[in-house]
Amino acid sequence: MQTDIERVVITEQALASRVASLAGEIAGGFPDREDGITIVAVLSGSIIFLADLMRCLPMKMRMDVVSVSSYPGATTQSTEARLVADRDLQVSGRDVLIVDDILDTGKTLRLVQHEVARRGARSVRTAVLLRKPSKAPSDVSADFVGFDIEDRFVVGYGLDYNGHYRNLRYIGLLKPELYGAT
Ligand code: 5GP
Ligand code: MG
Repeated sequence: MQTDIERVVITEQALASRVASLAGEIAGGFPDREDGITIVAVLSGSIIFLADLMRCLPMKMRMDVVSVSSYPGATTQSTEARLVADRDLQVSGRDVLIVDDILDTGKTLRLVQHEVARRGARSVRTAVLLRKPSKAPSDVSADFVGFDIEDRFVVGYGLDYNGHYRNLRYIGLLKPELYGAT
């Protein structure tokens, strides 16, 4: 697996240190309510970020997951986003933190932010590990961003290519000849 990687973009150490500081920013951004916050995590790319981030957050929290499909199969092009798993999302009256891996075209977050607001959340904020600023549209924003990266398709730390590479400890670029292969 490691031999498929052309270049490490963000090291394991940089990820750990930035996730911890991001948790500090998030904790400072939420009022300390008895009720705590409700995390709505977007599967599957956010799982490693989510697990690390949650354990750095000091406040009470609940967690729910949604699943959005926008990169079916072996493609790196975003298609229409679809909420494919949506079990009993309990966010009414809650302070919600949406957690996703990356803000790319914004289709995924636009859909999830809209759905959470529609279900009566008291407040909705969003944390993403990565953002591609060259692509991010003006109407979709993240309140907490780990890293801004260039517009290249990255893998690792939860992010996949055709289902693989989620278990890499770092964020990296695949060798170009592997994109398009299945
Ligand atoms: P958007 O809906 O903002 O276009 O895309 C967001 C979703 O597309 C992310 O949650 C992620 O699953 C996927 N995505 C976007 N850019 C990348 C990337 O560089 N690498 C990987 N592995 N997934 C990406
Ligand atoms: Mg995703």
